[in-house]
Amino acid sequence: MAQTTPNHKLTVSGWAAHDNSGLITPYTFKRRVNGPDDVSIKILYCGICHTDIHHVKDDWGITRYPVVPGHEITGLITEIGSNVEGFKIGDRVGVGCLAASCLDCEFCNDSMENYCDKIQLTYNGIFWDGSITYGGYSEMLVFDHRYVVHIPESLPMDATAPLLCAGITVYSPMIDSKLHESTGKRIGIMGLGGLGHVAIKFGKAFGHHVTVISTSPSKEKEAKEGLGADDFIISTDPKQMMSKRRTLDFILDTVAAPHSLGPTLELLKVNGTLALLGAPDKPLELPAFPMIFGKRTVKGSMTGGMKETQEMLNFCGKHNITCDIEMVTSDKINEALERLANNDVKYRFVIDIAGKN
Ligand SMILES: [Zn+2]
Ligand SMILES: [Zn+2]
Repeated sequence: MAQTTPNHKLTVSGWAAHDNSGLITPYTFKRRVNGPDDVSIKILYCGICHTDIHHVKDDWGITRYPVVPGHEITGLITEIGSNVEGFKIGDRVGVGCLAASCLDCEFCNDSMENYCDKIQLTYNGIFWDGSITYGGYSEMLVFDHRYVVHIPESLPMDATAPLLCAGITVYSPMIDSKLHESTGKRIGIMGLGGLGHVAIKFGKAFGHHVTVISTSPSKEKEAKEGLGADDFIISTDPKQMMSKRRTLDFILDTVAAPHSLGPTLELLKVNGTLALLGAPDKPLELPAFPMIFGKRTVKGSMTGGMKETQEMLNFCGKHNITCDIEMVTSDKINEALERLANNDVKYRFVIDIAGKN
């Protein structure tokens, strides 16, 4: 049993890694009883995010073991606290990366809780009561309702789960660059994985011309025919890169491996924006000339606020956007993590937590 605070009286079954071998095994732990601001959620599905791998293996040196990963969660409300409005028992809901924020700073007051300096994450965080947060690789969750969103009726619970991290992570910088306000822009999606594949769907739904930029020529057919991309550039082919100079208004870079931003920046038109989402463990090479000569901007983005997450799900409901998933049972989590580390998944693993499939 984990070290817990006095009101952590609920015994919950889940799956955890106990050391940096990253091996996931069944784990029984305690959660807090449902408080006035909380809802309890029976978890149905949980997506497997790249961040989960970094945490179970302690790649960033910040893991508090045992770690129960998972921040792409869908499930059903089973209990609501006395202060909770807008949710009822049986509601289909989702939980992403955020578990708590200060609710008082300029970012919290502006629906950008994701940039609150006191942000607490869904797993491996320290909640206000001093307990370590445990994520969605578990049968149930007690969660502050302010960080819970509704899943539109038209969306399936399994293929929607990864939208709670992968979806909002790509949606937020696209909104930030106002890609929802006009159509016909030329946008680039660099890297065709969990993030990239859903970014293509958003780009097309917003009405833009979408180019996939990838190191793998083998992905061209799938990108165009399977996901609806309009164009494909092989980033390791200098000729192709040169012929597409100054053609794109916006690029979303989802690549987590170290790479130079110079060649990518050259693809942008003057005044174009490169939004970084991948988090390589070493600094990226950022040459000044392509920025200066093209008046280009490089910016980052980290998930999204709660209001924006709900708007993203509503948009997905309207445009029928979900993730392409491979379902795994809970006894196959280790296998899935290993395959994900090798980018061997199309395009997101989802754990069938409740054993419905
Ligand atoms: Zn994630
Ligand atoms: Zn705040």
